[in-house]
Amino acid sequence: MNRKPFIAGNWKMNMTAASGKKLIEELKPLVENADCDVALCVPAILIPEMVKTAAGSNIKIGAENVHWAKSGAYTGEISADMLKEYGVEYAIIGHSERRQYFGETDESVNKRTLTALEAGITPIVCIGETLEERETDKTNEVLYRQLKTGLANVDDVTKVVIAYEPVWAIGTGRTATDAQAQETIAFIRKTIGELFCPKCAEKIVIQYGGSMNAGNCKGLMAQPDIDGGLIGGASLKTDFAAIVNYNK
Ligand code: PEP
Repeated sequence: MNRKPFIAGNWKMNMTAASGKKLIEELKPLVENADCDVALCVPAILIPEMVKTAAGSNIKIGAENVHWAKSGAYTGEISADMLKEYGVEYAIIGHSERRQYFGETDESVNKRTLTALEAGITPIVCIGETLEERETDKTNEVLYRQLKTGLANVDDVTKVVIAYEPVWAIGTGRTATDAQAQETIAFIRKTIGELFCPKCAEKIVIQYGGSMNAGNCKGLMAQPDIDGGLIGGASLKTDFAAIVNYNK
């Protein structure tokens, strides 16, 4: 099964319209011959300007979250229709920072995921264990729960991208080893096979995220079950292009 690799950036709460435009203009020629799909998930307020800047290039713009309701009294939230109106194709859902600081749960991840799919936005669903969970051998149990609840009632799971992001590796400079990332992502793929279907498991794109950079991306991307990366810090610089071009 040939899965198309997918490298996505997560700007988090960084960049301005001016610095974002400058970076995308610099990235465009650097990533134009990429063999993978490329996206940058950016703060909601920057979406219209970044979509305009990336137009005509192979860089797609994504959001960092999406609400589950069509519209209503949800101050500060953004709906899938609002994102679609500006041409957003991806939305990160359930990032560990949302889980840690904003009370995101597997249940809310599920609602956001179902809404994104219904709107034709590809959800990038983040799952991952904390350091304590890894050290107490709970990694697989945690991931299983996050997958079972977070993806409940999804009709076609191959329309979801999963980002395996061990919480202890995000923004810490401490990357999972190639073998650790491969072993855990193989478990995630096997679990998708059990919860959905074996063919779905072969088809679904699973990224690794956590301090991935220009230096370690080749080794990670060489692993058979790793189909891409969700990149935080390194997506704020032209280093992102080196990750996108990991195979050149
Ligand atoms: C992320 O925020 O999804 C992430 C992986 O961050 P970093 O690459 O900075 O660890």
